[in-house]
Amino acid sequence: MEPTRTCVGCRETSPKGVLLRIVHSAAGVQPDPDGTAPGRGAYVHRRAACLEAAGAEGVLARALRTGLRPDELGRLRDQMRTGAL
Ligand SMILES: [Zn+2]
Repeated sequence: MEPTRTCVGCRETSPKGVLLRIVHSAAGVQPDPDGTAPGRGAYVHRRAACLEAAGAEGVLARALRTGLRPDELGRLRDQMRTGAL
């Protein structure tokens, strides 16, 4: 059975494969669609509502133990909206 992860946006559990991993590495906060990048990761559904909930009130930043800049969140939002992730 595929391992499950919790979405930091809606707090629901889903199979790892349907969630998008976001990773905090030396390069900053970035999406990790393959789920293989080194660094501390957090998972969100590929839904605007979950990303917004994750970005609100520092939820994602806390999960990644880093600061989340507005442009990093904005880039994730754009990439998700255009279907790049
Ligand atoms: Zn979610």
